[in-house]
Amino acid sequence: MASKDHANSSHATFDLFVQAKTCQEVKQHFSELCRQLQLDSKDFRGFYTKLKERLNYWKAKALWTKLDKRASQEVYQQATACAQNKCLVLGAGPCGLRTAIELSLLGAQVVLLEKREEFTRNNVLHLWPFTIYDLRELGAKKFYGKFCCGSLDHISIRQLQLILLKVSLLLGVEVHTGVEYKGLIEPTGEKGWMAKLQPQSHPAAAFQFDVFISAGGGRFVPEGFKHKELRGKLAIGITANFINRKTAAEAQVPEISGVARIYNQKFFQDLLNETDIDLENIVYYKDDTHYFVMTAKRKSLLKRGVIKKDYSNAEQLLAPGNVDHVALCLYAHDAAYFSTGGKLPELQFAQNQAGQHDVAMFDFTCMQRAENASLVRERRGKKILIALVGDCLVEPFWPLGTGIARGFFAAFDTAWMVRSWAMGVLDLKVIAERESMYQLLSQTTPDNTSKKYSLYSIDPTTRYQSVNLSAIQAHQVQHLYDVDKGS
Ligand code: FAD
Repeated sequence: MASKDHANSSHATFDLFVQAKTCQEVKQHFSELCRQLQLDSKDFRGFYTKLKERLNYWKAKALWTKLDKRASQEVYQQATACAQNKCLVLGAGPCGLRTAIELSLLGAQVVLLEKREEFTRNNVLHLWPFTIYDLRELGAKKFYGKFCCGSLDHISIRQLQLILLKVSLLLGVEVHTGVEYKGLIEPTGEKGWMAKLQPQSHPAAAFQFDVFISAGGGRFVPEGFKHKELRGKLAIGITANFINRKTAAEAQVPEISGVARIYNQKFFQDLLNETDIDLENIVYYKDDTHYFVMTAKRKSLLKRGVIKKDYSNAEQLLAPGNVDHVALCLYAHDAAYFSTGGKLPELQFAQNQAGQHDVAMFDFTCMQRAENASLVRERRGKKILIALVGDCLVEPFWPLGTGIARGFFAAFDTAWMVRSWAMGVLDLKVIAERESMYQLLSQTTPDNTSKKYSLYSIDPTTRYQSVNLSAIQAHQVQHLYDVDKGS
């Protein structure tokens, strides 16, 4: 009887873990599950196998089937390919988490750091078909039943993080929230590469690693990497989230998967005539919220009083002191109302992390892109492989919805690089291959990448239709191998 009770309580905790809706809830139910099943979450190597053995619960089985299928891909070599590697991943955004999952499937010890305690971004990400397939295969639907129902091809950033966090924990990734990465500490004496953290006394500060993945989001550039600025014409993005009450009437309102000015001149002209709002494009997704992202023209923002004073410099133009927040809310509201034909009459703003109306204006005039995706550093004979993934590698232009797809490609390419490194491929060759793949990234589209999603793996040849891993040669990346003179 006692053991039945025991099983029942771990089953109930597993259900709570699966359904958890905040980062802290996920972590709390996960540690309770580990306690009940007498599992040590730091025992990363055997963690997933032991979890499966001890949690003999029918509801979990469908999830194990999915994860087992992924884990059985040849590239992982039954979780031995990177068994000797210790990886620190910075950032629990979707790309940091997705990379952490791949590294743990390769058998590496993975510690992930996130400075925030909660996932709060309502904004919605467009998913390319391969990302939907990928996430389904990781069990996304088990964690979030509404995941990409019917023809939906989007998800809120928050929900995506929750799904990936749950998968990461089940696979043995050690996730620490509320801890900020402050820089690398070079090896001394017996000690290897470590990280300076805030709080300084955090247990993860003692972790020694040989792979460091930065997935810290846009504009986060770890030491040693340079960003190039891609300056285009002024592009002002506005995002707005309104409460979705999920009524039958709201369900009827069609989404706008991207109306660009060139395709629908009349729509934009009518919008301008009726509201003085002038847009380049607009997207509307019905998700946890009613989410709108649009690119607005400067003149109309000035005319509606959203921007107070005109400046030629985008930074000055969009500086918080030059933006009237109430006028911005009205602008976003009116654009949303018009573009949905007035069928969302009760447009009430959802709240952001700060408890304010979830509307924001972003400058996309100047986009950042890292000059290179990886490097190797060696100090006192100890090497570290450093790589960038996600927005800190290439900043996406949100209205085009390329962020997650290219972010996941970079996550897979990075995992492939770590695997090559673990298998003893020469440092410069590892970097050269990674840089060769990186050259392709910004050109990838759903049409020019393989549609055989079931064959996708971290091996780049399964995804890119034509990839030349020797496009960049070892001698061209010598500057990315940074060794101290004493070594
Ligand atoms: P992110 O999702 O930005 O994650 C980076 C993580 O690293 C964050 O959780 C951050 O807290 C953490 N971090 C940063 N520095 C440190 C540190 N020193 N120590 C520890 N942790 C750290 N894309 C769209 O397509 N549409 C949108 O509407 C949209 N809105 C966005 C709104 C905001 C406020 C932000 C920040 C991004 C938005 N994006 C949007 C971009 C989209 O979120 C990313 O493309 C996607 O999440 C993948 O990014 P990522 O994982 O590389 O980085």
